[in-house]
Amino acid sequence: MTVSPDDLVLSVQRALDRLVRRLRRGSAPERTHRRLLIVQIDGLSRVVLERALASGRMPFLKRLLRRHGYRLEPMTVGLPTSTPAFQMAAMYGVRPDIPGFHYFDRDRQADIHFPRPGHAALVEARQAAGRRGILQGGSAYGCVFTGGADNNLFSFARLTRPSGEGVLAALSPFVVVSWVCAKNLLRTFLELGRAVARLVTHAAEARQGWRWLTIKIGFSVWVRGFFTLAVSRDLYAGVPAVYVNYLDYDVAAHAFGPQSRRALLSLRRVDRAIRQLWRVLRRVPEHQYDLYILADHGQTPCKPYLVLTKGHRFERWIFDQFLDPTPANASDANQRSSLVRGIHARQREAPALFQRFLNYLEEDFMRRDEPEAYQKNGVRVIAAGPNAFLYVLNVTAPLDADALEHRFPGLAEKLSQSAGVGFVLARCKNGPLCFRRGERYPLNGSEAGPFAGRPDASLVVQGITDLMTMPSAGDLVIYGIDAPEGHVSFIPEVGAHAGPSPEELHTFIVRPSNVTLPSPITHPLQLYDHFILYQEPS
Ligand SMILES: [Zn+2]
Repeated sequence: MTVSPDDLVLSVQRALDRLVRRLRRGSAPERTHRRLLIVQIDGLSRVVLERALASGRMPFLKRLLRRHGYRLEPMTVGLPTSTPAFQMAAMYGVRPDIPGFHYFDRDRQADIHFPRPGHAALVEARQAAGRRGILQGGSAYGCVFTGGADNNLFSFARLTRPSGEGVLAALSPFVVVSWVCAKNLLRTFLELGRAVARLVTHAAEARQGWRWLTIKIGFSVWVRGFFTLAVSRDLYAGVPAVYVNYLDYDVAAHAFGPQSRRALLSLRRVDRAIRQLWRVLRRVPEHQYDLYILADHGQTPCKPYLVLTKGHRFERWIFDQFLDPTPANASDANQRSSLVRGIHARQREAPALFQRFLNYLEEDFMRRDEPEAYQKNGVRVIAAGPNAFLYVLNVTAPLDADALEHRFPGLAEKLSQSAGVGFVLARCKNGPLCFRRGERYPLNGSEAGPFAGRPDASLVVQGITDLMTMPSAGDLVIYGIDAPEGHVSFIPEVGAHAGPSPEELHTFIVRPSNVTLPSPITHPLQLYDHFILYQEPS
């Protein structure tokens, strides 16, 4: 077995831990039960995983499957295909009321947008109330929710109010921390060095290169490096349940596409991280860890609505087109034309899609207002991804299709015939309604409407039924998936998820050969029933 510098540092750390335990006269963790390690590769569809395995981009995972008896199982993740909905179901066994990454909460009469401070914690506190999470006594890294973990790092729910113990527990092993810092600094310099070399040779690409570099260094080097070492430390210490989410692939796939070179490159790095964790597992057989590798949803290539419509924002366009009889006033018109001018100017400067994605990141994460929501005359529209929500405000419960028809005659049909729109969902007494290209289809156990041709039609109908049962889903849910122009996202991105396309819906879970999972897995709720068994009875 080769000994890497990481291994050396970890064994020093381990010796120190033993010393600390002896000083405190504490005992080593008990050996009574099996332990849980979940590695999530955010956003990786089964199709892309299989291609990555076949093309040698994930050599270690391939080896796990070929030589070490691990099994690759198909999994369908339900709707929306989005991390918060998946993790709420898998971590707490709760049917989530989380219709997207950004939506309107009728109770609070305010938006929930997951990256914003406090929003994930609020949703977790309300929806998981009283439930036992699968990570109780354990650690969560890079997740949206904590799953009950004591130790949370870079988890959305704790980003802004890290628990004192959490930070201390994660940061106390100074050996590991200083090693991670040293190593990551080295990698940062390497990446910078390469970038300088590229800058000299390809001045034109430099602008976008530098911006991507900062994201890459942030996510890929520091976050992944820290996660892997922190998880390794947990595994040595025998922490009962660990959930680590590697975000690199999802971030790159949104910016460059799910099959782009940059997205695929990040898979190789995640593969290396998995290899490192697996080596640690082999050294602590007494802890009896079961390793699972899974994806919470996939991604599909898409066109940004902004590009398709030469600068229109969907959430505003709906008002101009259908909901707002008064002509736009002068300042609105000015704003629009300056937006269009700005976009055209940037198009000349840099490859436009990338620049727009970065603008979006800046706009969205740096500012506190909601650039992708628009509200007027008692209606609020939120663009969340390849999905958008329309809410009639000042009502306590969702309106059904008839009530909407009364207020806005023909709106759902007309929307479903518009550029960039694949289908529109509404509620009806007997289940969801789907409007596509101006036609109206009921969806239920015997009718799959426009999805009837798909082999997984019943799963799509079930997913849409679940989605439209969520109180927080809009009165209308509008999807850019399956638009006449191809898949479309209402925010600036070229890889998208939240919808029912096969690439979004179908993922995978890798399990040890001696573990039996429910089969088939068609909803993350089934994972909860399996993972909660790792918790000791309280
Ligand atoms: Zn994503």
